[in-house]
Amino acid sequence: MSVLEQLTPPKEGNRIEITDGRLSVPNQPIVPFIEGDGTGPDIWRASKRIFDAAVSAAYSGQRKIVWFEVFAGEKAHRSFGTWLPEDTLRAFQHYVVGIKGPLTTPVGGGFRSLNVTLRQLLDLYACVRPVRWFEGVPSPVKHPEWVDVIIFRENSEDIYMGLEHPSRSVEAKKLIEFVRAEFGWKVREDAGVGLKPMSPFGTKRLVRKAIRFGLEHGRRGVTIVHKGNIMKYTEGAFREWAYEVAREEFGDVTITWDDVSKHHDGKVPPGRLLIQDYIADVTFQHLLTRPRDFDVIATGNLNGDYLSDAVAAQVGGIGMAPGGNISDFHAIFEATHGTAPKYAGLDKVNPGSVTLSGVMMLEHMGWGEAAQRIIKAMEKTFKQKIVTYDLARMMDGAREVKTSEFATAVIDNMG
Ligand code: NAP
Repeated sequence: MSVLEQLTPPKEGNRIEITDGRLSVPNQPIVPFIEGDGTGPDIWRASKRIFDAAVSAAYSGQRKIVWFEVFAGEKAHRSFGTWLPEDTLRAFQHYVVGIKGPLTTPVGGGFRSLNVTLRQLLDLYACVRPVRWFEGVPSPVKHPEWVDVIIFRENSEDIYMGLEHPSRSVEAKKLIEFVRAEFGWKVREDAGVGLKPMSPFGTKRLVRKAIRFGLEHGRRGVTIVHKGNIMKYTEGAFREWAYEVAREEFGDVTITWDDVSKHHDGKVPPGRLLIQDYIADVTFQHLLTRPRDFDVIATGNLNGDYLSDAVAAQVGGIGMAPGGNISDFHAIFEATHGTAPKYAGLDKVNPGSVTLSGVMMLEHMGWGEAAQRIIKAMEKTFKQKIVTYDLARMMDGAREVKTSEFATAVIDNMG
């Protein structure tokens, strides 16, 4: 019996399952996708062709993704009269792994971002954003090749929970009065107010994921980024809880910077993952001036939001920045930029963000060979200076191509 009410699942293919604490991926997994609004359909079509070609080439036709379209945003509103149908949530829940293009967030009071809603309803608690440079891609910095970081941003807490009341509202006044009476806090009467909850549970599961990733992928270290010098019981506690996870759960395979400098002459002993922490503002400076000091980053929701866009700018901008919202197993991979509506339907924008999000998805599924095919082919395409408008305008001697032509060039380069 289908768990869906309005949508009909594909007839072929099987569901990805969670078995014995692991993802069990069949040879023909059903993967739900949302093509997205604005430029979404253009970049989705191009990326899907790349995914299919890579999977077919990597596994000689033995494996194939069975795509299942589900709806959100404008297309959902047109077809079902709602921006985020229940079936879409059910499909992502049921099929475990999915991918999406950018979605419009209608402007207006009371409307929450569809992306934030999806993350919260499915408890996709880690927003993972790898940022690296591809040779040939224009960059505003001298050494973009020094940038190779994976940001793990906490996705379920912090001020993104939307626990806030507007200035002069009855609720804000009540809260202001409450904290004055109970704690003696002086908050201006006409202030808008919000809560910033950060918990050991939320922090530890995020940091655990970052450390596991670092260990499994042979990375050098995990940097905890926080603003704990100012917000001691939220950001500062994030730092404490992060070190606690490292010490209590990974004590034999990690080492803190303190330990390295006191007992190991400043050199990380082999087989140990370095755990260090940085204050958020200094991190922005150091990521720009010495990005090689950073590898995996684990940070809170707001810090992570700012940091990931800032780092992405160093390697070619948001047209190229992939992301994944991941829980222990469930995951939705997504373009990190918006719908760029002025370019909708023009077959113009860079599909790189969705394509590289798909690379993350293939890796999450354990289909690393297909992921590598895409990476290698994209590297080759950039070296040939075949790029979309966003990169062409910054590149000497570029051959500017359409979204679909870029996809064709990448597929041709899979060789
Ligand atoms: P945006 O859609 O990200 O576009 C801003 C600019 O970024 C574009 O004008 C373009 O720059 C560049 N850009 C975006 N996508 C690109 C791509 N694929 N290739 C090359 N360049 C690209 O931001 P916005 O205009 O502020 O937001 C539009 C809508 O998207 C809003 O409804 C917003 O809520 C939504 N949004 C959705 C998501 C999501 O679904 N994850 C994220 C952010 C925003 P140039 O003009 O310089 O060419």
